[in-house]
Amino acid sequence: MITAMKFGGTSVGSAEALDRVSKIIINTEGDKVVVVSAMSGITSFLVGVVDNPLTDPDGIVEQFRFKHLQAAEELLSGELLDEFMEEFEKRLAKFDEAIRGDRSDPYYQDTVVSQGERFSSLILAYVLKSKGTEARALCSEDAGIIAEGHPLSGSADLLKTASGMTMKVKPLIAMEVVPIITGFYGVNKDGKPLTFGRGGSDYSAAVVANAIDADVLEIWTDVDGFMSADPRIVPNAIKIEEMNFGEAAELAYFGAKVLHPRTIEPVRLKNIPLKVKNSFRPEEPGTLIHHLRRSKDELLRSVAAKTDLSIITISSAEIAFRPAMVARLIEKIADIDVIIYSISTSLSTVAFLVHNNDVTATLKQLNGLNGGEIERIDVKNDVALICAVGDDLIGKTGVSGEIFGAVKEANTNVEMISEGASDVSLNFVVPMSRVVDVVKVLHDRFIGVTQ
Ligand code: ADP
Ligand code: ASP
Ligand code: MG
Repeated sequence: MITAMKFGGTSVGSAEALDRVSKIIINTEGDKVVVVSAMSGITSFLVGVVDNPLTDPDGIVEQFRFKHLQAAEELLSGELLDEFMEEFEKRLAKFDEAIRGDRSDPYYQDTVVSQGERFSSLILAYVLKSKGTEARALCSEDAGIIAEGHPLSGSADLLKTASGMTMKVKPLIAMEVVPIITGFYGVNKDGKPLTFGRGGSDYSAAVVANAIDADVLEIWTDVDGFMSADPRIVPNAIKIEEMNFGEAAELAYFGAKVLHPRTIEPVRLKNIPLKVKNSFRPEEPGTLIHHLRRSKDELLRSVAAKTDLSIITISSAEIAFRPAMVARLIEKIADIDVIIYSISTSLSTVAFLVHNNDVTATLKQLNGLNGGEIERIDVKNDVALICAVGDDLIGKTGVSGEIFGAVKEANTNVEMISEGASDVSLNFVVPMSRVVDVVKVLHDRFIGVTQ
């Protein structure tokens, strides 16, 4: 039995939390491999470093050192602390070098924002050692996590990672050493760090589970499991006991922050069950995500929202009769790797849903195509995509009517609809300013009573 375990930022965010997590690891039977996020607040701090002029690098290093040492010194002592400090200072020297690096280097940001995981993994490995469990902190470079793609939006190469980890990580597991691996990034073919996007440690953990053929992946976080809505929006959201891969994948992709959008695929490929659990209440059973689920026949199980999107509408006479033109539009957008969250067509328009940040680049691409064929392009910024997941939403008669009836009750105009593309979810677009109300009304009406 081999368990892959991932601990998120709040789960490793303080000495107390690290102590709790080390006990969870020790109490887990069989072989295990661990993936960690940076301590909470650290990655956002590092994003601040890359987004602002570097006026006080010494101050940054000091702040960074303080936050980590505060936790480590509470948990370690004697020779082990000395040994830890030696490693810590080496990594801190690299951190210092990284933040002062060449800002025009395309990998500068990835190098800096991925630093937090290098420190949380080191502390956790030493905390385990202090409790008599053999552990080894491994950076993605040492663990063989191979990535490809553009800076700040890498993807793992599953095959290369599997062969890298077979050489570098499996021997440790065989010697009963617990590998503690940095989440959030892999390295490309030139050895440069590539991050997987914010929240990317969940994806790293799924990639690791895939690579070592884990029997189960446990994502340990700060809530009791995957819930019927974001508990920060809907305080009485209900924990879901069981979901299938498809449902969880749709919700994660469309905004349920509890899992990084790409977490499901690497485990689904190898049919590895995934559990979402609370590191603050390890006795709670959490949510089990796997290939099937007993049907409970609820209308809605969970609602998520992807915010900060824009609708780009292209008008052109009888575009519906010119499929080659529609293909060209999509190709142009794909050329710059912009994700299209939804597409909708009519006789003379095609509408694309993209992230607000991608609008300028998308318009530039589309304008490049304009040989008089495009009559007009309209942009509507600041919309959100609501993703409603339920049992056989599409098959049941009248379900969408009921859902849109509730949206109307929230005095909200639906801007775009995607129905039938997935058999587990119904997606529609509303103005950003209405998101919270719509999620609350849907939850209230179909899942539980909002306080
Ligand atoms: P971690 O640091 O462990 O990765 P995150 O903050 O990334 O934790 O994700 C956990 C948070 O996701 C929860 O605290 C919760 O606020 C939020 N969240 C959003 N949608 C959901 C949902 N459907 N179920 C559970 N949590 C959700
Ligand atoms: N530390 C990274 C972030 O905050 C990755 C993660 O926590 O999953 O985005
Ligand atoms: Mg997360």
